[in-house]
This record gives sequence, structure tokens and C-alpha cells, in this order.
Amino acid sequence: AEPLLEIDRLKTYFPVKSGLMNRTSGHVRAVDDISFTIRQGETFGLVGESGSGKSTVGRTIVRLTDKTDGTVKYKGVDLHSLSAKGMQELRPKIQLIFQDPYSSLNPRVRIGDAIGEALLDHGLATKEEVRSIVLDVLKLCGLSEYHIDRFPHEFSGGQRQRIGIARALALQPDLIIADEPVSALDVSIQAQIINLFAKLQAERGLTYLFISHDLSVVEHLCSRIGVMYLGSMVETASRDELFGNPLHPYTKALLSAVPIPVPKLKRERILLKGDIPSPVNPPSGCKFHTRCPFAIGRCSQEVPLYREARPDHWVACHLVE
Ligand code: SF4
Ligand code: MG
Repeated sequence: AEPLLEIDRLKTYFPVKSGLMNRTSGHVRAVDDISFTIRQGETFGLVGESGSGKSTVGRTIVRLTDKTDGTVKYKGVDLHSLSAKGMQELRPKIQLIFQDPYSSLNPRVRIGDAIGEALLDHGLATKEEVRSIVLDVLKLCGLSEYHIDRFPHEFSGGQRQRIGIARALALQPDLIIADEPVSALDVSIQAQIINLFAKLQAERGLTYLFISHDLSVVEHLCSRIGVMYLGSMVETASRDELFGNPLHPYTKALLSAVPIPVPKLKRERILLKGDIPSPVNPPSGCKFHTRCPFAIGRCSQEVPLYREARPDHWVACHLVE
């Protein structure tokens, strides 16, 4: 499939201010030189611990956050060099879904109006058409006419996420970036929402960037998975390859904590020592060396190259030659 989104050497740094003079005393390297491609129609899972920079990747793609360096290309167009007007025209095509859709819904606006407003704002429907389009997307997302004139507080967490998805879908996006969309939900509801994502993809040919700290969540939905650690992409592979033949010690540690059986893979629990270090002064060499049970001498000095170790399987580790 054709690439839909190409991220090349992307960096997003935030200045750290300190002291009375409010001087910049350093930078949080939230996204630190990462590259990956999302192909048309696939679901790319981005996983890592909280603080690994996953959300910042999503926010930088849609320009909620400025990049520091590198490029984000959507269908070959460099998003960060578009004019405000150009970006505004493109905005419906790339929709962001958040963990808590409630926070982005106005409590005093009926949900039918909230969804309809976005359609009218972008000139995607006339006043006459709005209600039937809104009804269509609500039904697609498992809601009904009964819900259209209700207020956000009248819905459960799972229903609110359905509303969030419906609102995104109404704008006929190509790409949906979902940032921890099921993390706040009960496990049984999580499965329903994941199934909804899968169904919509099959029916609408959507492409997803699915951000989650939970490997068992991305396992069900994603065709390829990228693993982030402290702002860096440490490994990217197809789901089957990543689960069946993980190469990076960090990926192995994450997988060893997932309580699901994987055939052929004898899993020993790999426990990581310590917490994720500060992204302001990340460790030298391989950023993972302070926690890696397999670190060797050069790991603290040399940055491992991110390279294709097997077909379409990328990894950054000195042990993988
Ligand atoms: Fe561990 Fe060294 Fe590989 Fe980094 S490069 S993951 S420290 S073995
Ligand atoms: Mg996050």
C-alpha cells in the first residue's frame, strides 16, 4: 500500500524555563529524531510507557504542537510548511481522538449539535443535510436517534467515546489518530470500542495511528507496531513479527509483562530496574542502557543505529547485528 503519512527524523523539543529570569535552561526532548511511515489502510500502533513521547508524536502530526526539526508528510504534503489556511482545509482529513472525549464536549451543547457544528464549520454539509449525516455517523458508532438531542452528561464513558469517534467520522477523515482511546474504560467496554474501530476501518477504509501504553490493546487492532522509549523509536515491525520475534530488549521486557500466551516464544519475565529517566538529560549512548539487563560496554557511549535488521523490521540495539 501507498504511504499515507511519512515521518522523517522528527524532533519536538520543549524549552525548560527556570530561575527568576525565566531563562531556558534545557529542553525536554519529547520526540527525539524518529522516523516511520504509515501506509494507506493500516493500523499503526505506537506503544511505550507514559512519558515516552507518543502523545507528542500525535500532537505534532496535526500541528497542535510545533516541531523542532524533521518533516511530517501527509500524501506527500509537508504539513508543517502549509499556510494556516492550507492546514485548515486539510484538518478534517486527519482527526484526533482523545482518551477522554468528555473534556472536549461542551456540557451545554446537545451531542447532535456538537457533531453538526464541526460539519458546518468545515463547510462539509448544509443546514438541511446536517441532521441526517449526524444520525448516520451515530448509528455507525452504535448509537441511535434517541441520543441525538441528549447532553454529554447523559452518556456513559463508553458511549462518550462512541460520540468522540462519531464526531471524528462525520468529517470523513482518511487518518484517525487515537490517543489512548480506551485507557479510561472498563476492560469489557474496551473490547467493544476496539471492535468498533476495527469495524469502521473495514467499512470506511480508514487508516489509524493508535497510541497506547498497553500492548495487549494494540495487539488486537494493529497491523504494525512501533515501540517508543524516551522520545526514540526503538523497534518497528508487523504485529506478528514483533510479538513472535522481538529484537529490542525494551520490547522484550514489555512483552514479557503482557499476560497472553504467544506460541514459540518462551517468555521469561524481564524486569526493568528504575524509572524512565528524564527526557531533559537523557542517558548517553543508548538511552535505554540505564535500565537494560543486557547492556554491554559500548551501550553507554555509542548511540545504536536504527536499522532494518530483518525485512520491514527496524531496531536500534548494539546487540542486533
Ligand atoms: Fe540494551 Fe545496549 Fe541494546 Fe541499548 S544498545 S537496548 S543498552 S543492549
Ligand atoms: Mg500520553
